[in-house]
Amino acid sequence: MQRALYHLGASRVTGQTARHLLPWNNAIDGSIRSFLSFAPTCSPSSFPPILHSFRHDLRVRCNGKSFTRNLSDVKEADAGALTSHDPLHFCVVGSGPAGFYTADKLLSKFGDHIQVDIMDRLPTPFGLVRSGVAPDHPGTKAVVNRFTQIMEIPVILRGNVQVRVYSTPLLPPAERGEDLENVDFGKDISLEDLQCRYHGVVLAYGTESDRALNVPGEDLAGVWSARELVWWYNGHPDYSTLPISLEHDTAVIFGLGNVAVDCARVLLREVDDLAVTDMASHAVDALRKSQVRRVVLFGRRGPAQAAFTPKELREILGLPGVKVVIHEEDLTLSEAEQAHLKANRISRRVHEVLSKAVAAASPPQPTEGAPDKELHLRFFRSPAALLPGVADGDCGEHVTAVRVECTQVVDGRAVGTGEFEEIEAGLVLRSIGYKGEEIAGVPFDTRSGTVPNSHGRVHQLEDPSATVPGLYTCGWLKRGPSGIIGTNLVCAEETAAVIAQDMVAGALPTPTAASPGHRGLVGLLSERGVASIALGDWQRINHKEVERGAVKGKPRDKIVHMEDLMEAATC
Ligand code: NAP
Repeated sequence: MQRALYHLGASRVTGQTARHLLPWNNAIDGSIRSFLSFAPTCSPSSFPPILHSFRHDLRVRCNGKSFTRNLSDVKEADAGALTSHDPLHFCVVGSGPAGFYTADKLLSKFGDHIQVDIMDRLPTPFGLVRSGVAPDHPGTKAVVNRFTQIMEIPVILRGNVQVRVYSTPLLPPAERGEDLENVDFGKDISLEDLQCRYHGVVLAYGTESDRALNVPGEDLAGVWSARELVWWYNGHPDYSTLPISLEHDTAVIFGLGNVAVDCARVLLREVDDLAVTDMASHAVDALRKSQVRRVVLFGRRGPAQAAFTPKELREILGLPGVKVVIHEEDLTLSEAEQAHLKANRISRRVHEVLSKAVAAASPPQPTEGAPDKELHLRFFRSPAALLPGVADGDCGEHVTAVRVECTQVVDGRAVGTGEFEEIEAGLVLRSIGYKGEEIAGVPFDTRSGTVPNSHGRVHQLEDPSATVPGLYTCGWLKRGPSGIIGTNLVCAEETAAVIAQDMVAGALPTPTAASPGHRGLVGLLSERGVASIALGDWQRINHKEVERGAVKGKPRDKIVHMEDLMEAATC
């Protein structure tokens, strides 16, 4: 790779400055324009200025004045001043919003001087947008149009920049259920494989596991995580055959977040409304036969601490044919909670929406022909136990009831009162947060379920005060499972900014593999016999899904089995 040289107009920077620049991995060619953009009072005649630091700030003395520019502010215009004979190779692991936004930011910053590969273990891109976002929220999914452009634009407009999406069982979770035995871990690509082929690796593979309630009975049949239900109805190929039974009158959901609301809405909504979405067809068929008439959401704290947002709450409270049960006494606020609501607009709105629902308490508007359903929002109830029994058609022990302990909120925490209640339930969902999965060789904080990092730079396992050169993270894996899709844009900006700083500071490792980047990876995949699919293959899947959907009046009819996806990708 060519060493750095910096020219400022006619004046070449020499001596001490050149020594600062030597570690840079890219040649930086003359660009008075870019220089003037942060040192506006310098004129070409006043060059050469004196450059003082290239670590995180670029400091310049010029005409007796100092100018400082944070290197995280490197913009596309500046990237235009970079030239290199050998572009940077980056690999983003995970093709969800965090992965795509990071790739986009890197491409914007470095233009033709970077090649970004996006990898995914599935043959379908878009991660959470495809597998997580509720099917009846198509507006949220529109972001895939932008992601599709990111995949396509480089090929058309950006010359040597490439973004590829592969399917490969990349970076396998250390522990997998038996149901995933079709994944041949012998063929996996390890983090080390990537590190020796890329200048930088960005881990953006999200949170594929769930927090546990840690109460007796959690392993009973009929108990699922909300993520499992969501991935089932969204046709995630690892979860499409999950034996979720909807043959029970009552479903209980623990947790008062938006995922809980999504699950409750899907269970209660008129199935005809869902049949015209991209919900997987097997889920639509199952929901059509569903016996679930009552969904009870339990929150361990009160309405002032509920995690759902007003818009989502309003939507579920307004479902036709659904009677809403909220206990008025639960809405009473302590002084501290009143102060909290005053300062927090979202919590205040949530409380207002709940209060309006209680005040209205109008009888439900039954949909013609459909029996009434009920949604119960129960606050100050913490899960204590899931109780077994033998349910119809089940040979093993199935959950038949839940026991909850009443709570009070003390200093913001739910404290049990020693009073217990039980209600019958044949389907129980824990919707208390997602969590990342530990992967061999990747630093991981088991408590938070995230990869430990500072602003996206991954910390070393052995020495948490140091970071791993060239290893970054973004999205839920970086900051935990919170925020909407757009939150990942901000998150990606931060990660891309530290990458830019490291690039400029010469802190990116140089690939050691004989064949770096995309070519090296493709070679390795082929050597190991790993079937991978690229953009064109995904486009074939996409086309088939849309075509199948048109027949059923849906935006797409998802292909939900791995072997069918691979077949659709190739023919
Ligand atoms: P979340 O918003 O963090 O909510 C988790 C819920 O679980 C909270 O009510 C929490 O109560 C409860 N909880 C945690 N541990 C518990 C325990 N041991 N026992 C009982 N309850 C417990 O998580 P999420 O619903 O999975 O959502 C994840 C993120 O995705 C959120 O930022 C959410 O807004 C976002 N999302 C957005 C949308 C949308 O915009 N439409 C849709 C889906 C998801 P405490 O507060 O008491 O801990």
